[in-house]
Amino acid sequence: MKYPAVSNFINGELIPGSNGVLDVYSPIDGTIISQVPISSSSILNKAVDSARDAFKSWSQKPIKERVQVFFKYRNLLEENAEDLTNLVSEENGKTYSEAKAEVLKSIELTEFACSMPQLVSGEVLEVSKGVECRIEKFPVGVIASITPFNFPNMVPNWTLPNALVLGNTMILKPSEQVPLSANRLADLLKEAGLPDGVFNIVHGQKEIVEAICDNPGIDGVTFVGSTKVAKIVYARATSKLKRALCLGGAKNHLIVLPDANVEMTASDVAASMSGCAGQRCMAASAMVGVGAVDHIIEKICEEARKIIPGENLGAVISKAAKERIENYITEAEQQGAKILVDGRNAIVKGKENGFYVGPTVIDFVKPGMKIAKEEVFGPVLSIMRSETIDEALEIENSSPYGNAASVFTQSGGASRYVAEKASAGMIGVNIGVPVPREPFSFGGWNESMFGVGDITGKSSIEFLTKSKKITTKWNPESKTNWMS
Ligand code: NAD
Repeated sequence: MKYPAVSNFINGELIPGSNGVLDVYSPIDGTIISQVPISSSSILNKAVDSARDAFKSWSQKPIKERVQVFFKYRNLLEENAEDLTNLVSEENGKTYSEAKAEVLKSIELTEFACSMPQLVSGEVLEVSKGVECRIEKFPVGVIASITPFNFPNMVPNWTLPNALVLGNTMILKPSEQVPLSANRLADLLKEAGLPDGVFNIVHGQKEIVEAICDNPGIDGVTFVGSTKVAKIVYARATSKLKRALCLGGAKNHLIVLPDANVEMTASDVAASMSGCAGQRCMAASAMVGVGAVDHIIEKICEEARKIIPGENLGAVISKAAKERIENYITEAEQQGAKILVDGRNAIVKGKENGFYVGPTVIDFVKPGMKIAKEEVFGPVLSIMRSETIDEALEIENSSPYGNAASVFTQSGGASRYVAEKASAGMIGVNIGVPVPREPFSFGGWNESMFGVGDITGKSSIEFLTKSKKITTKWNPESKTNWMS
């Protein structure tokens, strides 16, 4: 194994798991690169004790003091970017440049957290003669964050810097498929001077996630992963009276109008459906071509053929994922859809055991087909056709998901119409991956997110703090007659 077995990280120390281990594969060549512990709930209890204990002093530090650690952490992310990038690429399978973009995004997220002191000063108003009402924000307590495989460095950093700068302490439960990057973040936080116990990692699977939901020492849960599990976690954590914000899966629609700029649309659509091997919750998965768009589809195929597995296209996460994605393609073909670019059976020379699926473009998909409705999570674009924008919007609106939707057109009016009518939390106009950058927040609608507020940006402050309203009167001569 290239890397030693991963351990839990509790109170600044490495602690092994207690229920065995799982192998960690590199999707690039299918080799086993490490092992991850399956921890029991007794390990989680230790992490909760450590986080609760650390909360006592960490939450008492002024925010301007807490933020100093994150200036250092930001610089350490930058200094170690090369190393972090290679690790993401190795354990997740994405290309070097995609992994680098993820690390750069973590830096941006941390920079945003460093601006928190400017954003969380409270509010004050004289509400009656001589009476002042003031609002102060307090940390919630211990926040647990459960993360998916597709962004091993970035998604933990959606919650981590904001939660900790705001005075909370944390337990991270990373995806068991990509545990290595999470532990590197713990190393950097320690090096940046974060006190022991403020940030902890517990590795494991379903059992640990359920224990997180049930543990009374945890006050809030953020979850990012599939909708199936997001629903379970949201229902279970809130039934145990915790606050929860659970981000789920997606089926993002791109509505392409005949007046769209051909070159820009084709390269953005191809990049959106194939970036990170299609394993982005913001990936273009379904395109609805409105009217005469054959010339744009031709160009999309031309762009897709330039995307080569093992060169500018990474691997998907596992053998099972590769099989699942290829089955979706085969089933669509059997149901009458037309495969324009076929990525099945992709082999990369020298990496024959890697988990690769080539870029795939499928035309004449019908809205009722499985591939049109379900999240494929691979480099596959399903194209549906419609006569009008309203018909395209009907298809988009019928999806239970609602993470992102995009429109490609040169008409301001048409783009405004789609932006208003699409049922999604993040809209792109001539943008294939409309991720809002800081300080704007990230979050979808419908079954792509359960809970109130978004997970990053200014919106995260509401989730990560609780407010106290303090009403004060000092001077009897002000003769206030109704604030007794
Ligand atoms: P997943 O739901 O399988 O796993 C997510 C986390 O939940 C992991 O830590 C995993 O260990 C845990 N888990 C898995 N099964 C569980 C169960 N039955 N009970 C309790 N916990 C369980 O997701 P994944 O395959 O790691 O990630 C891909 C999914 O994440 C896709 O659906 C993608 O759209 C979604 N995602 C969404 C966003 C977003 O912002 N909405 C961002 C990234 C990924």
